[in-house]
Amino acid sequence: MTGTLGRNANATVPEVEILSTCLALIEIVDSCNLACPTCFADSPIGATGDRLKTHSLESLKTRIQGVIDRKGKIEILQLSGGEPTLHPQFFELVDWIHAHLQIDYCLVNTNAVRVAREETFLGELGTRGRRGHFQLYLQFDGPQEAGQLELRGSDFRDMKRLAMERCEREGIPSTLAMTVTPENLPHLWDTILTGLDFEVCRGVSFQPMLLPVPLILGRIGCLSAGCCGGKICSFGRWPSVGVESGFQVVALIILFILRRKQWQRGQHFHLFLIAYGLFRFFHEFMRATPKPFDGLSGYQLIALATAVAAGIAYRRRNLEAHHTPC
Ligand code: SF4
Repeated sequence: MTGTLGRNANATVPEVEILSTCLALIEIVDSCNLACPTCFADSPIGATGDRLKTHSLESLKTRIQGVIDRKGKIEILQLSGGEPTLHPQFFELVDWIHAHLQIDYCLVNTNAVRVAREETFLGELGTRGRRGHFQLYLQFDGPQEAGQLELRGSDFRDMKRLAMERCEREGIPSTLAMTVTPENLPHLWDTILTGLDFEVCRGVSFQPMLLPVPLILGRIGCLSAGCCGGKICSFGRWPSVGVESGFQVVALIILFILRRKQWQRGQHFHLFLIAYGLFRFFHEFMRATPKPFDGLSGYQLIALATAVAAGIAYRRRNLEAHHTPC
């Protein structure tokens, strides 16, 4: 297998499941201190007390260690949420990750609220940032006004700029993560220029708002690497990468129409996950992956769980919409 990242580049095993983990993402908090209308994580607002939903430190350690025990070292461990910096034992977890010989690097997704507003938190973060093997993946939707309200429900540009200035002061390496929408698409270069203003900025990441786009890019990667192939059928190998790409293109067109027509507002992500989960579950039967769970693969279990969870979230948001007072 060629074309994979990091220590997998020289792997000699054919099974994807036992390649080591380039990037593991774990959600450590389910709540958030912002309420973005476009939230992928569907995080309920709540930064303190009973409304703050977190995973215990011990369960997080157990889950991370479980991945290491099964697949070996983790190159990058990404802490996510919700807003991960809200976890009451956030720094304990970061210190445990730093001390763990089997984890190379810690990346923290953050909306920057605590970085910009809490001096004590910033000081603690600076200690970890200067230690190395650590970086913030800092939500930043560009220096322009366009797109801010649609993405975050408010204009947080001053807060984001302040957070970056504070990271600069404390020497905390950061990557700017911009969610790209039709509104802010003309401003990608402005975001790069903003990043260049800061020595601690290690890069800019552009995340298309419409999920099929990165998935299509991923499939192009599969094509060039020659991986993720289908089963052998009567006519040869099932074109699994082509079929999946076709699904994503159709999904992209449908999502674009929904967005243009303003149909199913706030539900596009859920609809996509339901459709993709079901598609992936059935398509998996045609892929050449190990099926150790009663004839099902791990991907199928995840796909089914994703479709069910998205269905529940869809229904919940529908009910919320109908109960919103005028
Ligand atoms: S900051 Fe992130 S997790 Fe929080 S509401 Fe916005 S998109 Fe969701």
